[in-house]
Amino acid sequence: MISRELSHHSRKVLRRNNRRTAAPILPFFLLFIILSLIFYGIAQLPLPEGSPSSRSQSSLTDTNLLKAASQPSVPSASPVASQISQSSQAAQPKSLSAGEDVPWNLVLVNPWNPVPEDLSVTLTHLKNNQAVDERCYPDLQKMMDGCRAAGLSPRICSSYRTMEKQQRLYQNQIQAMLNSGLSQKQAEAEAGKAVAVPGTSEHQLGLAVDIVDEQNQTLDESQEETAVQQWLMAHCWEYGFILRYPTEKSHITGIMYEPWHYRYVGREAAAEIYEKDVCLEEYLGKAG
Ligand SMILES: [Zn+2]
Repeated sequence: MISRELSHHSRKVLRRNNRRTAAPILPFFLLFIILSLIFYGIAQLPLPEGSPSSRSQSSLTDTNLLKAASQPSVPSASPVASQISQSSQAAQPKSLSAGEDVPWNLVLVNPWNPVPEDLSVTLTHLKNNQAVDERCYPDLQKMMDGCRAAGLSPRICSSYRTMEKQQRLYQNQIQAMLNSGLSQKQAEAEAGKAVAVPGTSEHQLGLAVDIVDEQNQTLDESQEETAVQQWLMAHCWEYGFILRYPTEKSHITGIMYEPWHYRYVGREAAAEIYEKDVCLEEYLGKAG
């Protein structure tokens, strides 16, 4: 009995002491919790556009691009590059206006549909003077990485072109045709099949790339046989790209077979175009 009483008494004393020490600490503890919550809330707020952190993110993207283009044999850089470019892409506003309700990735440019007049492209620059619309860059990077991971050596030899550049290429092509003995009219017609008439080239959208195999950088039908093209033709759709000018569709596209020219249309459209074995004109219901 005595011992039980004693222990009961000592518990009471202990409880009282606890209450005495707990009382002044409680407000400080609550204040600490509130301050922590406020601080956490501020830390979670999105960064304003152009803040130092978001700027450094896009410059990292450029660095990775440069790395990707200049060191084609380093696939190890790819996971980081993909992650960074994805987050920077999400922060970027849309920059291409087609003038109608066509999504930027499905704008049709061919001999009968010139590049929209109000076109403006925000470019991501690659090494070797190449550049693409920043919105197709992440998937392009992944496709190049995928191709390299398969042990191959793809090389982007042409990408975004200004009107001036397209004009220069077209004139050069006409000259080559004239040199081969064609009349001016014939030369222009033939040149237009190989190099799009200025103002009607997909390259002016920044969504087209010419990719060759480093083992064979000649732009002719021999590209088709290279390991790089075999891989790209089988896998480009997984990354949102299509082989834009297939051999059996020249009468619809107006452009000769080009087993090196890939156009970005987004993953959904690319998968459907690949599966149905159609060209972009057919997919958009604008064939002939
Ligand atoms: Zn091309």
